[in-house]
Amino acid sequence: MNLSGLRYEGPIYRPPSETNSLLIQTTIGCPWNKCTFCMVYKNGPKFKIRPVEEIKEDLLWAKKNYLFPIETVFFPSGNSIIMKTDDFVEILIYTKKLYPNLKRITIYGSSQYIVKKGLKDIKRLADAGLSRIHVGLESGSDVVLKNVCKGSTSDIQIEAGEIVKKSDVELSEYVVLGLGGKKHSKQHISETIKILNIINPDFIRIRTFLPKINTPILNEIDSGSFKILSPHEVLKETYDLIKGLKVTSQVLSDHYTNYIQVKGRLPEDKDVMLKSIDQSLKKDKNVFRKIYIGTE
Ligand code: SF4
Repeated sequence: MNLSGLRYEGPIYRPPSETNSLLIQTTIGCPWNKCTFCMVYKNGPKFKIRPVEEIKEDLLWAKKNYLFPIETVFFPSGNSIIMKTDDFVEILIYTKKLYPNLKRITIYGSSQYIVKKGLKDIKRLADAGLSRIHVGLESGSDVVLKNVCKGSTSDIQIEAGEIVKKSDVELSEYVVLGLGGKKHSKQHISETIKILNIINPDFIRIRTFLPKINTPILNEIDSGSFKILSPHEVLKETYDLIKGLKVTSQVLSDHYTNYIQVKGRLPEDKDVMLKSIDQSLKKDKNVFRKIYIGTE
């Protein structure tokens, strides 16, 4: 088949750390697509897994046409982990054959699908070249996870985290500050601390809840059942989260939704991080971004 370029369908999201990566879609859409705060695939496309041959054609096209060095590959879309293990192993091996000097191959994967795959299969993916999984932990609180329809519980999140770590695949966990609203803020943070301390991921990535268009949570905001945290309340959550963590993880807040950038390695940078959050807590609310309805 003569391709004129890489083929993409639907929204293509990738972690900021994958800015320079080659992006090849293995799946389209999200098989879950029910999280009440997530707008990414709410207007489609319907979830599907791309045929292995089609993915290989795209990889080969990139190899022949991109003359700059490719060091990392990211396979969108949401939840590429769901692909059949045999098929994904074939793609990983093919990718490594085309790019023998790759430094990293990364995907998104929700905890429920990681648990479904199990340790043996995740290890097979690791042996074939998968090096990092980004997981939307969002919260460690079962109440919050249920409210936002995440499709997992704290037990599933812990099990998934342990499977990834045992497989020697790097684990990047996302936490969404403010996701419990005012009502569940305390529980959101204390339970998130609890399970992150058990999992001890390689990376903890902080995001801040920002309502997005086309999301079910907007109805809760309209009805008043979900109350959005103020910037200072979010900063307090940030402070409590960092203070409570007893992990050996890299903390990043590499996202536009955050009010401040909190970055460092735990435990060694904890005091510096807490100090900087404390300084921000003293600032006037007008210096922080406004609360608005996001479109991206
Ligand atoms: S947050 Fe992730 S799992 Fe949830 S609907 Fe969005 S892409 Fe799917």
